[in-house]
Amino acid sequence: MKKYNHFFDFLISHAKIYGFIFPSSEIYGGLNAIYDYGPYGVELKNNIKEFWWKSMTQLHENIVGLDSSILMHSDVWYASGHVDKFNELLIDNKDSKKRYRPEILIQEYVEKNFLDDPKKKEKTLSRLSQSLKKKDFLDIRVLIDELCICDPVFKTKNWTEIRHFNMMFEIKNEKNLFLRPETAQGIFSNFYNVIKSNRMKIPFGIAQIGKSFRNEIFARKFLFRMREFEQMEMQFFILPEEEIKWYEYWKNSRLKWHLELNLGDKKSYRLSDHDHLAHYASAGSDIEFHFPFGFKEIEGIHSRRDFDLKSHEFFSKKKLRVFELKKNYIPYVIETSLGLDRFFLAIFSSSLKKEKLENGTIRVVLKLPYYLSPVKAAIFPLVKKDGLPEIAKKIFNDIKICHRLIYDEKKSIGKLYRRQDAIGTPFCFTIDYDTIKTHTVTMRNRDSMKQKRIHVKEISKIIEKETGLKKILKKLSYSI
Ligand code: ATP
Repeated sequence: MKKYNHFFDFLISHAKIYGFIFPSSEIYGGLNAIYDYGPYGVELKNNIKEFWWKSMTQLHENIVGLDSSILMHSDVWYASGHVDKFNELLIDNKDSKKRYRPEILIQEYVEKNFLDDPKKKEKTLSRLSQSLKKKDFLDIRVLIDELCICDPVFKTKNWTEIRHFNMMFEIKNEKNLFLRPETAQGIFSNFYNVIKSNRMKIPFGIAQIGKSFRNEIFARKFLFRMREFEQMEMQFFILPEEEIKWYEYWKNSRLKWHLELNLGDKKSYRLSDHDHLAHYASAGSDIEFHFPFGFKEIEGIHSRRDFDLKSHEFFSKKKLRVFELKKNYIPYVIETSLGLDRFFLAIFSSSLKKEKLENGTIRVVLKLPYYLSPVKAAIFPLVKKDGLPEIAKKIFNDIKICHRLIYDEKKSIGKLYRRQDAIGTPFCFTIDYDTIKTHTVTMRNRDSMKQKRIHVKEISKIIEKETGLKKILKKLSYSI
């Protein structure tokens, strides 16, 4: 665990130094669990969004997109059950005045202290799971005492009783106006508009990327658990009798999608069925990824049945049903919900490597999938004289229309390569004296560090072929 923590500190600092992630409002001391994306962070994030969006909408002719607003009519949140049921358990330490989620305190304690005693670990976690199911909060409180769990900061056991806490942010002076805790409700409330305007027929899906807000009590682990984050969600509307078929389909299809990304190896992912379901779900499964701090949920696949549409029909008094195949019914819904920031962290943590080179030095390299890299290629002149910068700038200006490039001449070539490795740029092209005579440049690959000479005319084609989304989308279109 220590090794992971060390790596995680290194990752957070790398993300900041190279302009991927900054703590929000840092000049005022920061804000708990809120982060900003820097110049390379936003490029990487946009590439991830584009990849997910195209995989969902472009590769599935029956999935369309939506961008609904963050603020919605307050009845939406009564109908969806979030006002009454979107609660977490909460426990305070009276000395540190800090708030925690009791089940996470127990899970983390068990992970840390029962490493050599798997039986004890299993027994404790199963007791926790039973108590959660039975809503036996007293027993969870007793468990905290029995395990002698201390406040992580103050190291005291002066705990309050366990109680409920609603995780929605309510807007001050605007009674019952909330920041949305999931993007899905924008999809449900537009269900009928989409059917009508786009002539959709069951089964069909609506995909959306957008911000969500949750007042997380135990917000930690960098981008993993934030209070403001983004979700990439898709609600797939189906015939009720086809629930199991589509639930299994989306579980498998989403796992395949992740595996095609090739982050780490196959062992970096696992599917885990929920034994503790959200208030709206009748079945749920998580795709978990092996983060530097262990296996954790990255995407949830849920069967929401007709929970949301039925409830919105009741609250809004508007018909939210379809008339197809001589039947008038409320469709069931299978949801796939991927956290964009969590996914960013999964990609970033599995790509960041320290490699020992033959000459004994260490290079830091971000081995991102090429199609996600924030910058696709860098163009350098070998020296800042003899007309080489002018040639390099001409090449840069010609190609930048099609690809995200960097032009740099500020340091020696070796240092320029290291910087591009650290931000994950797949290719560097160096313009030298031979370029003047033969119109060729040196192409250097990030992963192999091998160099070869190519004609200037080939640069754009190579970037297009190697770093575009075409290759992976083609692969996915046959496999998902
Ligand atoms: P967790 O159990 O980790 O709190 P959840 O089961 O409540 O997550 P869902 O409501 O299913 O999460 O949300 C779908 C996805 O949204 C999650 O798989 C995760 O990737 C992302 N997500 C949820 N909460 C957060 C958060 N606080 N910060 C970042 N991403 C989040």
